[in-house]
Amino acid sequence: EMKDNTIIIVLGASGDLAKKKTFPALFALFRQGFLPTDVKICGYARTKMDAANFHSRAVSYIKNPGEDPAVTASIQKFKDILTYVDGSYDDGAAFVVLNTHLEEIESKYTSKDNEADGIEKNRLFYFALPPSVFVPVAKNLKENCYVKGAGVNRVIVEKPFGKDLDSARQLLSSLKEYWTEDETFRIDHYLGKEMVKNLLVLRFANVAFSSGWDKNHISNVQITFKEPFGTEGRGGYFDSFGIIRDVLQNHLLQVLSILTMERPVSFSAEDIRDEKVKVLRSIPPITQEDTLLGQYVGANGKPGYLEDDTVPRGSVCPTFAATTLWIHNPRWEGVPFILKAGKALNEAKVEVRVQFKDVTQGIFKDITRNELVIRIQPSEAVYLKVNTKTPGLQTRAMATEMDLTYNRRFSNAKIPEAYETLILDALLGDHSNFVRHDELDVAWKIFTPILHWIDGQSGTAPKPVPYAYGSRGPPELNAFVERFGFQRTTSGYEWPVTSLA
Ligand code: NAP
Ligand code: NAP
Repeated sequence: EMKDNTIIIVLGASGDLAKKKTFPALFALFRQGFLPTDVKICGYARTKMDAANFHSRAVSYIKNPGEDPAVTASIQKFKDILTYVDGSYDDGAAFVVLNTHLEEIESKYTSKDNEADGIEKNRLFYFALPPSVFVPVAKNLKENCYVKGAGVNRVIVEKPFGKDLDSARQLLSSLKEYWTEDETFRIDHYLGKEMVKNLLVLRFANVAFSSGWDKNHISNVQITFKEPFGTEGRGGYFDSFGIIRDVLQNHLLQVLSILTMERPVSFSAEDIRDEKVKVLRSIPPITQEDTLLGQYVGANGKPGYLEDDTVPRGSVCPTFAATTLWIHNPRWEGVPFILKAGKALNEAKVEVRVQFKDVTQGIFKDITRNELVIRIQPSEAVYLKVNTKTPGLQTRAMATEMDLTYNRRFSNAKIPEAYETLILDALLGDHSNFVRHDELDVAWKIFTPILHWIDGQSGTAPKPVPYAYGSRGPPELNAFVERFGFQRTTSGYEWPVTSLA
């Protein structure tokens, strides 16, 4: 239920995430009337800024390409609900000042008939902050800015949630001293993506898919993240995490869990998350043998990873990883789930590729396998590769597709940004698309041993194999996916590119 009398407080409001994602998402919700009535948004960070300065920073990434006067007017109205307070993250007194500012806003709330125990005051705190200050900020907010009495207090936090199982547990338990699980909304923004949310519906609202969704019909699954650019001067942050922590352990594993979980009893947050945790607990830690690591080198005039000045000399941090997970339960025993992600590759793409088994041989020879492809980005699509009779007089099978391309099928639909749907969910108190503490714990259990090996904690760190900037990844990749049964569709499958809207 949406609560009126709400203030959204963005901590780290001077930063990159706030500017690029948080404020644009808040604006989109505001413009469409999805924020609470009379909502106010308050920025907080150390940087000293006057209102005008803060306003122009907060709206700098809001798109208005055609200079639409209606949007311009909304931006002006949006600025009117934005205020800013500066202060440090570790000083309780600074948070007392913030609290005074919030109380001033709340002093204008008027009571409603049904508010017997006082006027409701709701605060949603959004952490757009580096993890080094998560704990002091959580503490100071709880001690100085937590409204008691009628109303709810909530916090939204973002990865990184630790670097391995121990550090994640430590961070989580420190935060739990101040904020309960019910008050905490841990973002993995992949859970806000349209196609990831669609997985539940595709799987459980279609007998046609759900009936073949198991080891008897599926040969292998790939969940792929490809980025066409490297670190480009932002390598300092990346190098201390690597591609596995950046993409696989969180985003791709979340996709995997929704793709493979059993049907939840209901769509309630706890029923869904119970099933996700259950399937994740059936996955043993990833092994070295099932992992391929790569690092990009300069090619076609583009610099290699080690040529980025912000990357430590001689770093062996992987910028590409492919790794295979196994699920030990009756549905999935023996089916390889290949997660792969890389920077500086040949294209931008995030997709799930479910490859079905061969048809029984005999009447057909060399026929291609069915594949269900769910493209998460860019240009959302679901397509099923099917064999069909070549039109004409001969009876010969050819590979083609049944295709649901969103921008063609739903030409007028506006697909929301992940952050829009997630902030809306947090305002509504719906945890379905946020990461529960035990989900995070089991995710780290799966990845921690391989990460410690990569970090060199059990001897010498492995050296990733080189791949050229702009290629599909290490040359070893094709053999790697073939080892797990993937067969590429080759025999003349062509996609009529011109028909794409
Ligand atoms: P950021 O710009 O580096 O930091 C946000 C703000 O925090 C800064 O404007 C700065 O504000 C303050 N800050 C920075 N370094 C600090 C330090 N060492 N000690 C104390 N305060 C510091 O970070 P961000 O990119 O916005 O990311 C925020 C969080 O979101 C991180 O957890 C990040 O991993 C996550 N995230 C970011 C993105 C993205 O697109 N940027 C995407 C996904 C997740 P003041 O100096 O004004 O206090
Ligand atoms: P694809 O791009 O041909 O990729 C299919 C698989 O083969 C992927 O796992 C890919 O790996 C791998 N692969 C690609 N190039 C390879 C190479 N040179 N050597 C070995 N393996 C290679 O995708 P597709 O599903 O067969 O579709 C073909 C084209 O049609 C794509 O451009 C697709 O976007 C388009 N199409 C679009 C729609 C739509 O928009 N609705 C529908 C159907 C098809 P990596 O991805 O890991 O590189």
